[in-house]
Amino acid sequence: MRPIIIANWKMNLGYRDSLKLAEDLVRAIPEAELYKKDVVVCPSASSLLIVAEMFKKHHIVMGAQDVFWREQGAFTGCESPKFLWEAGCRLAIIGHSERRQNLQETDAMVNQKIKAALVAGLAPILCVGETYEERAAGKTDNVIMGQTIKALSGIQLLANEQLVVAYEPVWVIGSGRPIEPEEAEHASRIIYQTLLDLFPLTIVQNNIRIVYGGSIDGSTVSDFTGLEYFGGFLVGGASLHAEEFASIIKQTE
Ligand code: PEP
Repeated sequence: MRPIIIANWKMNLGYRDSLKLAEDLVRAIPEAELYKKDVVVCPSASSLLIVAEMFKKHHIVMGAQDVFWREQGAFTGCESPKFLWEAGCRLAIIGHSERRQNLQETDAMVNQKIKAALVAGLAPILCVGETYEERAAGKTDNVIMGQTIKALSGIQLLANEQLVVAYEPVWVIGSGRPIEPEEAEHASRIIYQTLLDLFPLTIVQNNIRIVYGGSIDGSTVSDFTGLEYFGGFLVGGASLHAEEFASIIKQTE
């Protein structure tokens, strides 16, 4: 499958700064890279339309940072997957650890969101990963297996649907230092095996990509590019700098 590199701008940029970074990205990412790789940018909701306008003539894809599990109705402040699709999103980050921690998002909510995203035509980017305490207690494998199983419970991917599973060790996000590649590789193998228990082999091979996320930048990405089950990256901090993000894209195979 094509590698996928996803930028998560989080709540870092307003309307003007989002437009500026989108412009810089269009300049910094060589067109040839976009033919070989899926590049996805997830701005904050208030900047989706202006970024979509900027990316219209380019092959950079837009994603949302979250979705709600209902399509429409009296849900103040929530983002409808259907309306996000209309705004130009084609993927959506779901279950990011910052939402699990700050907004008490549960695996059951994540599961509902994934179902709703798929119905709307959005490819979910499911985030799983252990906290430092869970890792210290030797629970990493169980945590990522459990999060993956619960998030994907009752879901059957159709041949035209895509899913991304992002392994993001929570304690590494925003720390400036990625996890050891061997540890990431072990986690990716656990996720891959779990996916094989949930979906037919052809779906796992053709419709699902596992990516690594956690303090990746242009100087560390090459340590992770050869790892067997990873098909790309989810990038936070380093995606806020056009040249840095472009460097990650260029080095991703
Ligand atoms: C993230 O929060 O999804 C992430 C990968 O962040 P960072 O790259 O800043 O660790």
